[in-house]
Amino acid sequence: MDDDKRTQVAIVGAGFGGLLAARTLAGQPVKITVIDQNNFHTFQPLLYQVATAGLSPGEIAAPIRWIFRGYENVEVLMETVVDFDLERHLVKLVDGEVPYNYLVVATGSSHAYFGHDDWEPFAPGLKTIEDALEIRRRVLLAFEYWEKQAATGQGDVPLNFVVVGGGPTGVELAGTLTEISRHVLANEFRSVDPEKTQVILLEGGPRVLPAYTEDLSQSARKQLEKLGVNVQTSAMVTKVEPGAVHVGDKRIPAAVTLWAAGVASSPLGRKLGVPVDRAGRVLVNPDLSIPGHPEVFVVGDLAALKDKHDKWLPGLAPVAMQEGKAVAQNIARDLRGEPRKDFHYFDKGTLATIGRAAAVAQFGRIHISGFVAWLAWLFVHILFLIGFRNRIIVLIQWAWSYLTYERGARLITGDKRLPGWESETITEDHATAERVH
Ligand SMILES: Cc1cc2nc3c(=O)[nH]c(=O)nc-3n(C[C@H](O)[C@H](O)[C@H](O)COP(=O)(O)OP(=O)(O)OC[C@H]3O[C@@H](n4cnc5c(N)ncnc54)[C@H](O)[C@@H]3O)c2cc1C
Repeated sequence: MDDDKRTQVAIVGAGFGGLLAARTLAGQPVKITVIDQNNFHTFQPLLYQVATAGLSPGEIAAPIRWIFRGYENVEVLMETVVDFDLERHLVKLVDGEVPYNYLVVATGSSHAYFGHDDWEPFAPGLKTIEDALEIRRRVLLAFEYWEKQAATGQGDVPLNFVVVGGGPTGVELAGTLTEISRHVLANEFRSVDPEKTQVILLEGGPRVLPAYTEDLSQSARKQLEKLGVNVQTSAMVTKVEPGAVHVGDKRIPAAVTLWAAGVASSPLGRKLGVPVDRAGRVLVNPDLSIPGHPEVFVVGDLAALKDKHDKWLPGLAPVAMQEGKAVAQNIARDLRGEPRKDFHYFDKGTLATIGRAAAVAQFGRIHISGFVAWLAWLFVHILFLIGFRNRIIVLIQWAWSYLTYERGARLITGDKRLPGWESETITEDHATAERVH
């Protein structure tokens, strides 16, 4: 087939939205160019497992080129998109341009520090594989320093991990960190007792998991506390510095601080020159196209659209996937000369994991907590992992660590320093007098 005659579709971002758009369109008489800054797709819901040494990066990521190996009309470019020329129908790369007839922008979101970008070096967020590896490095290093300090006679003080933000990411990080210190590392240290660590979860609002119903929020808090997490609500962080977090006048010493508090959309949304909301999400039309450009669509975390109850659609993988699919179907309708359909999100329910055998799930009016919710979470997330091999490996890893409490990916690589630990020794400052156990 002559390539030039085929409709050209450029898809920017191979996350959940971009992948579904490309896969759905691949059967159509179009030429698709998928552009992503990475050569792999990341399954973000399992990033916390990499950050807490339960899984290795390759188990939750898949090469984009491999995903599309069977589609001759899909080409993959590993490039960073910097801008668009909507008049000339061009995607602008750092050093080049890609033409399109249709453009799908699906570049997702990142963390926001509420105007305090200077906090980022002391409190990494969790969005990419690199973030997860950095968190894993810091957490494991903290335990090593702590053991060294005690072994060299400098005292055994409790160790604090502070997680900022009580949404799904903060909750799963706090629960799993507690599990590591209470169970995984319990028998491996000789001079310190990992059970003396404290994981403090700070949430600015009145309850954790604010997007869930009140009863599930309460259940999540109880499950966290049962695991050993010190949950503090209405605790708005006012400052982050090396080795400490401030909540108003209170200074909380922190060996490691993790950021799970805010979301900012990909800066590419603003490059489209159409209205965006405060988080930078593009206000899309009901068919997910942008005002004035029916050939340009935005999907996933970067798109702002209300559901039939007039509520903004949440930044979740199923929303991105359904939107990606819907856009592809509308492009196919255009090609067949049929009218487009508006997008309607079908909510199959939401799940949040908290830790070992702990989770909450909301399926319409049915609310579940604890082990059954955790099993549902595990099943759904393994089902949606890309690649049969990854699914099998993750399932085996999970079963093994459930039975043995082992976390095999506990490698410390790269820099051996922690911000705030100048002399590589722990001071009382990293501990807190305030203990919950
Ligand atoms: C830690 C964590 C846990 C989560 N857990 C869950 C969960 O349990 N359940 C759930 O439903 N959702 C969860 N989410 C949310 C879910 O992952 C997102 O809603 C979903 O990934 C959004 O899909 P997307 O396609 O919009 O963007 P993404 O999946 O973020 O993909 C964006 C893609 O764009 C690429 N990109 C970005 N900028 C550029 C550029 N300039 N040039 C080229 N490429 C670019 C990126 O490399 C990436 O591949 C979680 C998110 C995080 C961070």
